[in-house]
Amino acid sequence: MSRALFPELDLELPDDRPKPGKRPSYFAAVALEQSIDKELDYEVPAAMWDEVKIGQRVRVPLGRGNKLAHGYIVGLHREQRYPKTKPIRTITDPRPLVDGQLLELARWIGRYYVCPIGTVIDSILPSAVKKRVGIGYVTMCRLAMTRDAVQDLLENTKAPKRRALLGRLLQVEEGGEIELAKLAGEAGVKPPTVRRLSKLGVITLRNVADLPALSVPKNWSGPRQQPLTLSDEQRVVMDNLTPRLVDGFSVNLLHGVTGSGKTEVYLQAIAKVVEAGKQAIVLVPEIALTPQTVRRFTGRFEKVAVLHSGLTAGARHRFWQQIAAGQADVVVGARSAIFAPVPKLGIVVVDEEHENSYKQDQAPRYHARDVAIKRAQMAECAVVLGSATPSLESWERAKSGHLLSLPSRVADRPMPAIEIIDLRNVQRQTRRIELLSPRLEHLLRVTKEAGEQGILLLNRRGYANFVFCPSCLEPVNCRFCDATMTYHRNVGEGPGSGSFEAGKHTGQLHCHYCLAVNPLPPSCEACGHKLSLFGLGTQRVEEEIRRKLPDLRFERVDSDTMRGGSQYEQVLDRFSRGELDVLLGTQMIAKGLDYPNVTFVGIVSGDTALSLPDFRASERTFQLITQVAGRAGRGEKPGRVALQTFMPDDPTIRSALAGDYERFADRELELRRQTGQPPFARMARIVVRDQDEKKLASRCQQLVVDLGPAVASENSVTLRGPHPCAISRISGYWRQQVLLSAPSALPLQRVLSRARSAGNFATNDRLAVDVDPVSLL
Ligand code: ADP
Ligand code: ZN
Repeated sequence: MSRALFPELDLELPDDRPKPGKRPSYFAAVALEQSIDKELDYEVPAAMWDEVKIGQRVRVPLGRGNKLAHGYIVGLHREQRYPKTKPIRTITDPRPLVDGQLLELARWIGRYYVCPIGTVIDSILPSAVKKRVGIGYVTMCRLAMTRDAVQDLLENTKAPKRRALLGRLLQVEEGGEIELAKLAGEAGVKPPTVRRLSKLGVITLRNVADLPALSVPKNWSGPRQQPLTLSDEQRVVMDNLTPRLVDGFSVNLLHGVTGSGKTEVYLQAIAKVVEAGKQAIVLVPEIALTPQTVRRFTGRFEKVAVLHSGLTAGARHRFWQQIAAGQADVVVGARSAIFAPVPKLGIVVVDEEHENSYKQDQAPRYHARDVAIKRAQMAECAVVLGSATPSLESWERAKSGHLLSLPSRVADRPMPAIEIIDLRNVQRQTRRIELLSPRLEHLLRVTKEAGEQGILLLNRRGYANFVFCPSCLEPVNCRFCDATMTYHRNVGEGPGSGSFEAGKHTGQLHCHYCLAVNPLPPSCEACGHKLSLFGLGTQRVEEEIRRKLPDLRFERVDSDTMRGGSQYEQVLDRFSRGELDVLLGTQMIAKGLDYPNVTFVGIVSGDTALSLPDFRASERTFQLITQVAGRAGRGEKPGRVALQTFMPDDPTIRSALAGDYERFADRELELRRQTGQPPFARMARIVVRDQDEKKLASRCQQLVVDLGPAVASENSVTLRGPHPCAISRISGYWRQQVLLSAPSALPLQRVLSRARSAGNFATNDRLAVDVDPVSLL
């Protein structure tokens, strides 16, 4: 099967094989899974010559002790390039696990994101595939001799069983195969009798996966749906896009306001590609990978593979095989689905392309959107990037490329009106800090009374994100991190509970960086004063809602309450059935949800993201407000949005209110241009960490010295740092960063590559290179 799967990989070894006894002379370049930043040459023992292929996973001896390590064959050659070469120990899996194109992609990722290629391959292959979980194998037999030779053999054989076997084998069509169990059954012999023939060289055996047909689990499948009649705007976009679907590589940015029908455009574009016998990969952000989203694809296409985090290992492996066998027309999944081994890639769709979750935060630190573009380039097909709030990188690039726009909602539905609730006035009037202003409370109430539903966003978990002593004015910090601890209540603590009424807090302090959990100290450790809780958190909003709107049926949705995907799905199901009036939550509820009865969206604080010490803070804020506002009024009834803020005049907030992406982008891009920030620069961030602050400082100084020659070789590359990171300590490790930047990617890449060959990034877990970082915290 593997041959059929990846024909271009069939690297035939030349036929002039040395006779047994002579020195073998075939070698494999092996990329090891453990992060060794070099391919190593191994000898291919003669016994493996028939089997060995590029893309296979192998076990090889490593180092003085010859400890066995896993790696992948990334090249085969004849000349011995090193005086001493150890032999490959075993071929762990006869299937080539990466085909030619994926291997090329892995090489690109390894180069671009400064990561050993073995680590890249290791991370793009699902571990269920490597461990071969959940798939049965059947053994296939094929003649290894000419039919005439078998005929001769048959004539000289007396044993009746073997005669029956040889006779049956002669009936197998020329070059064909027969399953071992079937052959044995039909010849009336036991399987070992068949296996003996392979020892005699009459037949060859190989294992192939016993693959069930592709099917979509029930809760992900939807009723059959016909393509919708496109709106005028959608038609213009489709007419533009259609010729590009058959014209090789292109990057197309689809900028469409929320509810403008981007998904329908994806579906119809994909249909064209599928009709042409090719496959589609659709990337969606992990939290948007809900049955609701997926059903739009399974309702339209029959053969859909859904790669989500809740899959069992066996299911994941089966999907992978089915995809590789070309059984899936459409693959839908989060970030890593970009590595789905579809044989004929015809289109890649990246929905909500601005989402940060497309960036992997461990090595290889790739951005799935950019990998998607690279993969499409290799496969010579189109990429469609869709968003209501494109990343400024994509927006800037699209200005000189292919920009498609859907400026209004389908069916003349209006964009939701956004009103500002100025928290400074509220505070003046009520003389205390309220999370739910009287206006917000009123809007929630009237929404419920009208039988409609609402979404309430606060992008912060827990109860209070500052716990401080009113006398020393010191917040309680994590012992391991440069961050304040967030107070989380225990289940049951709240108005009405005994401890709460007695003014006691029984909950815990959580660190959102190192995940440490401590009890709340009874009093300030320095002065003994009673501690105060301050700041925002979803639990606190929950408490206020309970107090002010006791009849409101709502559920809190954040990573504390939603452990595991099925809980999240259950809440969404109840919401869609109208059993809940309101969803309160973090960004988990800000995107993707499409419920026609949602007419109100409240944003408890529009300012939380603005205050982050990151040059993308405004971009994030604009995206979050626009995305969550876009959940309102998607059905027949118009939507309304209320935004509470202390900064009503902030230009980002103003553009978000006006729903004016272009105004926001123009202004922000001008700022970025002036300050030399992406997209007008490319960055690589090198973060070094150490438990010892002094050691860290000297290592960073040394790193800067080491990088000197590489940086000096490119005029346009600048180095800044070392500086302490914005969060200068996490989990007991001090952190400093060095930033490299350049006006374009190439010079930066040359510097990185030079520094890498000079061993400046000698891989260890204390140093991380992040190319095109999405966050500088
Ligand atoms: P977006 O992805 O741009 O936010 P969606 O694709 O979710 O928008 O579309 C919003 C709603 O409009 C969905 O309920 C969808 O079924 C509906 N819709 C999209 N296109 C059409 C169309 N051409 N005719 C009727 N309804 C449509
Ligand atoms: Zn911590």
